[in-house]
Amino acid sequence: MKINLSANAITVLEKRYLSKKGTKVVETPQDMFRRVAKNIAQVEKDFGGDKKTQKIMEDRFYDLMTSLDFLPNSPTLMNAGKELQQLAACFVLPVEDSMDSIFETIKNAALIHKSGGGTGFSFSRLRPTNDRVLSTGGIASGPISFMKVFNSATEVVKQGGTRRGANMAILKVDHPDILEFITSKQNNEELTNFNISVGLTEEFMDAVMDGAEYPLVNPRDNKVVEKVSARKVFNMIVESAHKNGEPGIVFLDRINDENPTPNYGEIESTNPCGEQPLLPYEACNLGSINLSNMVENGQINFEKLKKTVEISIRFLDNTLQASNYPLKKIQDMVLTNRKVGLGVMGFADCLIKLEIPYNSDKAINTAEKIMEFIQHHSKIYSQELAEQRGSFAGFDESVYPQKGIYMMRNATTTTIAPTGSISIIANASSGVEPLFAVCYKRNVLDNESLVEVHPLFEQIAKSRGFYSEELMEKIAQQGSVKGLKEVPEDIQKLFVTAHEIEPRRHIEIQSAFQRHTDNAVSKTVNFKAEATKEDIAEVFLESYKLKCKGVTVYRDGSRDAQVLTVGDND
Ligand code: ADP
Repeated sequence: MKINLSANAITVLEKRYLSKKGTKVVETPQDMFRRVAKNIAQVEKDFGGDKKTQKIMEDRFYDLMTSLDFLPNSPTLMNAGKELQQLAACFVLPVEDSMDSIFETIKNAALIHKSGGGTGFSFSRLRPTNDRVLSTGGIASGPISFMKVFNSATEVVKQGGTRRGANMAILKVDHPDILEFITSKQNNEELTNFNISVGLTEEFMDAVMDGAEYPLVNPRDNKVVEKVSARKVFNMIVESAHKNGEPGIVFLDRINDENPTPNYGEIESTNPCGEQPLLPYEACNLGSINLSNMVENGQINFEKLKKTVEISIRFLDNTLQASNYPLKKIQDMVLTNRKVGLGVMGFADCLIKLEIPYNSDKAINTAEKIMEFIQHHSKIYSQELAEQRGSFAGFDESVYPQKGIYMMRNATTTTIAPTGSISIIANASSGVEPLFAVCYKRNVLDNESLVEVHPLFEQIAKSRGFYSEELMEKIAQQGSVKGLKEVPEDIQKLFVTAHEIEPRRHIEIQSAFQRHTDNAVSKTVNFKAEATKEDIAEVFLESYKLKCKGVTVYRDGSRDAQVLTVGDND
């Protein structure tokens, strides 16, 4: 069967995904999907599936991927059926307050990066700068200095890996070094492989609301070091985010309120892009359904969506089993809780097909309706799998029995990933983000560039008779179609791009998805260059009120490159 791959998709696949001998590509995209399907279907035999069942599942997984209705996270596409066989995108490792733990974790992170996974860490347990080091009588250098060591290790490993390493660093807002952390990514080249987020607590948010002080606590002895104004710290976060988009914020208490396995400890960190909160040593396999493919004749085909959810959950549960993990401890944790994260891509494209502008109330309702449906059917199917394969090992002590649920195969089933690379392969808009541009210029040769037109826009422009190459060129100059008299007004509204959308609308969409997602939602709130600090503060507070688990902002032109951006994999 022919796969409908765009030129961009083929470029990305050849560069990073297809098997090579030396520099020569020796696999077609069909071969790659067959390799992955076969590998993931083999697991069926662990659950009593005979050869025939394995083959049936292999073909179904193959169809699922080649139709581009669903794609698993990049490491699965890159490594399944190959020697590495490391299939997960997200890991969290512990950083305890000892040299042993710190350097052990650096080593383990290096192994994960080599296999294409991203790592998150909480540095909150490290004693602060200038604190005592009992064994040597010296003074501690603090979390930020150790982050730099992690960063250097990542830098070295990425030279030889399949893709650049990505890290998340989280520091709790009550750590004495919090101010240094907040500004740690400004004017320096030392933390280039990190995204950073401040871990906010309910206590802190209350103090912000009340204009009160809150305590900074030394994690070594739990003693209060000093009290500081919560608003002052909040404003520093805002100021720094306004300057260069970092730090982001995560609401740690909220994440832990929804921790399905609290008996295994507290969640202190997320993966690099923030969508997957994990316990130390947990990993997670993600996969995303292409919502654009779920629209038929101007309507969502819910029957198709249901079937796609079911087979995708089965795929992801198999993936947990099929994967090699860099450490035995990680394997044990993964197979205890069996977290998977099914999400979506192509949401903006789906809205366009439904003729719903992204910045409308109808878009919020649609987001909610789709995700509620996916969440519901992912849970029902996880229960069905549990009947055949057993519940996850940590089920009895999890929150599920208290909720009257008797079986569940996976501690979590849903996560909304950025889909930075896989959305290019599927030729879909990324994750739940709006369009970034309607047309853009892509460099093909040294001095030549090609105008890429959004496929739905091209189709509509041709059928409504306003397509011309000059117009596409013009749109590529400015990215958006707003105010162009050549483009009918309803089409201008439908093809709204990220920067034309009110920040509040971004948060409302994020919140609508979050309401029906176990883990978190990857979303960037885009601001125009002229946005003020107050605008940013408002969005942070709004995300708190609307029960998001965290938020990332980006003001146009405020930094040259992000740790993870589209086409980042060089
Ligand atoms: P993809 O589209 O490649 O499957 P996403 O953009 O959806 O990946 O990112 C999902 C997660 O995969 C990230 O949060 C991070 O944990 C991991 N990840 C993404 N890109 C990288 C990278 N370059 N290096 C390491 N990990 C990455």
